[in-house]
Amino acid sequence: MTARPTTLKLYTDACPYAVTLYEQGAHHLKGDTFAPGTAFHDIVHAMSEGRDVQSVIQHLVTIGRVGIDAEGPLPFDAVAEGHRLARHWMRDRVMPEVSWYELGLAFSTDFAARMPYEDAEAWVHCKIDRVSVIDDVDGFEQPIRVLEVADYKLSWQADEAELDTIQRKVQAVSAWHAIADLVGEGEIDAIDLVIHSVRTGSDYRRRLWLPDDVATLEAWQTEVATLVTAHDHKPRTARPGPACISCDYAADCEASLLLLHAFDGDPKGQHASDDELATAWAVAKSHLNVVTEVLQHRIGKREKVVLPDGSAVGYVARPKTVMTKGHASLMADAFTRGQDMGPHLFIAMVDAMGGLTVTQARKLARHLHKGNVAAQEALLAQWTEAKVQGRWDSDKPGTHPVEVPDVG
Ligand code: SF4
Repeated sequence: MTARPTTLKLYTDACPYAVTLYEQGAHHLKGDTFAPGTAFHDIVHAMSEGRDVQSVIQHLVTIGRVGIDAEGPLPFDAVAEGHRLARHWMRDRVMPEVSWYELGLAFSTDFAARMPYEDAEAWVHCKIDRVSVIDDVDGFEQPIRVLEVADYKLSWQADEAELDTIQRKVQAVSAWHAIADLVGEGEIDAIDLVIHSVRTGSDYRRRLWLPDDVATLEAWQTEVATLVTAHDHKPRTARPGPACISCDYAADCEASLLLLHAFDGDPKGQHASDDELATAWAVAKSHLNVVTEVLQHRIGKREKVVLPDGSAVGYVARPKTVMTKGHASLMADAFTRGQDMGPHLFIAMVDAMGGLTVTQARKLARHLHKGNVAAQEALLAQWTEAKVQGRWDSDKPGTHPVEVPDVG
């Protein structure tokens, strides 16, 4: 099967065997989680082209997606959520006149020649949410034409780091090689990579000037080619470890299941190395995720299973203390009774609470600058600072610096 950004990401973020499981159509643990995103993309596409949205919705819930990225019918709730997000995102937005939506690009080895997107023999495929030609000006106020390569992200975590992913590099190099076909050779002065974070409303952009940044595009092309070669190498081996925790194919991965039996006959792991114990912890956690997902899918996230002995697993009631309505004025009363606190009231209250949490500060910034994300971020930049704290967890491969012993 051809390489595509999804499989290249799986290769780097999970392990080579995860790509094989994906290609075999293994059960995707978070299948339904992505359905609102799928619906969002199709509905925004229809809205951008002025097509009938209702018929798109009907198609999604009865038939699903067709073509090379085919998917079965999507749950109605997920489609409704995708529709809500699409309406919100498209409000007051005007799409550039020259645009291609869901542009499918495919190439032969090393991007040598463009191929039809449907051609299963293509070396690499990618689909870009939107490619547009926009007019802009350079630093000297001279008019320029820019090819905008835009991707919609529905994850709350989407930020400027999305501009550095392998997905973005495949899209940038593919769009660069398609310029002659789409617009004409020499017609474009720069390529803008754009991430639209749909949930937060933030946009992230990186400009690559042509020809000044061709070296960057060539370096990305080499990186993609190296990765495609590695990704195509068979058999693809499983690499159980911390990446399993977020691997969507753990349920079908025998290699990780086998690892759970590594301590049969040595239940306390007394004969296991530290590496083996750490790997076992990560794999056990991934399978806890699998069982949780399967159970939640079967009974619903807000349900529980009552076992014969009366115990329960699932969504169980826990006592919790919450703030009463009107607590702010009650607290202010308590603070100011008998004293003139004036403007120091806020400081005194925050100090008495031992400071605000980052979540509280974020809410306060949102309250002070409703709808103005840049102003909110500016306040947060003043109020917060980056720190490194240790906690029991795991890092993916490549995220932990290797310490080199000082040999004098
Ligand atoms: S569960 Fe772990 S070993 Fe199995 S495919 Fe996923 S990342 Fe690879």
